[in-house]
Amino acid sequence: MKICVVFAFAALGLISCGPSTGSGSFDKLTMTQGAHHDKIAVVTTFSTLNSFVEAVGGSYVTVHNLVPIGASPETYQPTPQDVATLADAQLLVENGTGIEVWLQHTISTASNPNLRILILSDGLKHIDHNPHLWMDPVLASLYAGKVARALSLMDPSHAAGYRRNAAVYQQKLVALQDEIAKSIATVPPQRRTMIVFHNAWQYYNDRFGIRTVGVIEVSPGQEPNPSYIASLVDLARKYNVRAVFSEPEYSPKIAQALAKSAGIKTVSDLYDDSIANNARVHDYISMLRYDTGVIVKALK
Ligand SMILES: [Zn+2]
Repeated sequence: MKICVVFAFAALGLISCGPSTGSGSFDKLTMTQGAHHDKIAVVTTFSTLNSFVEAVGGSYVTVHNLVPIGASPETYQPTPQDVATLADAQLLVENGTGIEVWLQHTISTASNPNLRILILSDGLKHIDHNPHLWMDPVLASLYAGKVARALSLMDPSHAAGYRRNAAVYQQKLVALQDEIAKSIATVPPQRRTMIVFHNAWQYYNDRFGIRTVGVIEVSPGQEPNPSYIASLVDLARKYNVRAVFSEPEYSPKIAQALAKSAGIKTVSDLYDDSIANNARVHDYISMLRYDTGVIVKALK
């Protein structure tokens, strides 16, 4: 197994997985790749991250995600095609913070000496090892900045373009943050509470003043026991929670049972780890806009 080494700009989290000879410079590798590819071949781990690369990379990159739309990156089983995709890629963009537990083995199997890896959450403050930092538009803006710096390092001739694209996208994220805050403000403060299936909402909720009262599945893939569910029912009553929120990629059974016991409703169409295969939730910004509409409607 190859050992990934931090190649340059440790704070950026840009890592080389090439042979650890220490002889190849970043520029030299970039120029070698440039001779074979017109566009930088970028692979992301899951679809929500594609927006940041597409917005910043524009026409200078191709973007492909490994985890299919509608699947969970936390419990994903990589395929032989994923290994082949990484073997041909130049830049892998992953979230990090333990969400892609399956990834290291795929990288090792792909054995691509030219692959660079950008870990978007590196160097950012985490809450309780929760990986869902991108759900806060402020942190998503930092992700976009990291993508711009990584692409500029790999492709310096287009650095100004990457910076410009990132700035335009970051302006959109500022407007999105403002739009979400205004929408949440229409919900009475005492009703700003959620019980969620898995805790993709911690950063969003912290940013917009929503209290995460409870989480059904604390560890990915681990079903909660009945006494834990009973404690969530108590919390739902105590905090007057109005709905249990889940995503289409998870079975709705436990959320529905909890909601029934607590006498509240179930909302099962939130998107966070994956965008959707429809026009309403086709990228990061439309996803957060859609989710906010769903949350506000359920809490009002
Ligand atoms: Zn998740």
